[in-house]
Amino acid sequence: MLGVSIQREAPIELHRFTDYFQGFEDVDAVRAQFGEETERVLTDLKVEFYSSRWGYMGVSDQDGHILVSAHYLRRGEERELYLDVIHELVHVRQFREGKEFFPDGVDYPDLETEIEAYRVAVEEARRIGMTEEEILEYLKVPWMDEEEYGRLVANIGMEAPVTPA
Ligand SMILES: [Zn+2]
Repeated sequence: MLGVSIQREAPIELHRFTDYFQGFEDVDAVRAQFGEETERVLTDLKVEFYSSRWGYMGVSDQDGHILVSAHYLRRGEERELYLDVIHELVHVRQFREGKEFFPDGVDYPDLETEIEAYRVAVEEARRIGMTEEEILEYLKVPWMDEEEYGRLVANIGMEAPVTPA
């Protein structure tokens, strides 16, 4: 009726994680996720790059590969990229354990999987010398409003910043 045809099965191009991200197998926060399997998990891990300016990184809830915005990869601040990779590797471990990422009716700042991933990233941020202020700034993401941000910060056990009225 529309006079067009759409081929609906498009190939997703996956790359080796270790071709783009090296040295993560030596990070204690990563080893804490996978233990002795760390090298094998990272060697087998795949990454997909997408060109949209929207978003940063994520993990596929279909097969556990990492998704990275090529735009963010190019422009993002190095420490933030580093912390995001660690955050996503926590999700990779959760995926392997069969954890559900998006249970019905749970808001983003209350998701157990997110709280755990943010806690690990925040600990690592402190270890690399970021101040609490810098970490709170890092935690601000465009998909959370002020209230949700406050809830996430509280859920990961940090002191919410005082916002001027
Ligand atoms: Zn996450």
